[in-house]
Amino acid sequence: MIEKLFLTRSHWNAMRRHAARRAPLEACGLLAGKEARVEAVYGMRNAARSPLRFRMAARAQWRAFCRIEDLGLELVGIYHSHPIGPDQPSPTDVAEAMYPVVHLVWSPKNGEWQARGFWIEGGKVFEVTLQIAQ
Ligand code: ZN
Repeated sequence: MIEKLFLTRSHWNAMRRHAARRAPLEACGLLAGKEARVEAVYGMRNAARSPLRFRMAARAQWRAFCRIEDLGLELVGIYHSHPIGPDQPSPTDVAEAMYPVVHLVWSPKNGEWQARGFWIEGGKVFEVTLQIAQ
């Protein structure tokens, strides 16, 4: 488990724009990096095309995993949006979390998209601080 994930303003903005653009559907994507530091954001298509759930297209997800490996990076996070809330993982998110990475949930608050980070393990959810650096 990690307690803090480091990302840049540019990573943050890329995810935020993606979430806003896909609303009212859920947006989803992958974060690649090393240990607790994000180095690349991969916006993915939500194959479920749903406002309530997401499923990354399998082939596109495979290609992204290959690219991440080619770059010598690791999967450090998965993000998705909740266009109508809540601002934390749903019971489905908790049940379906398969990777030991930070799960970022984007949701609108007073018209502004915000993200919170979580570590999901053994059905339990722990908050992870999202530290934005320049
Ligand atoms: Zn969710």
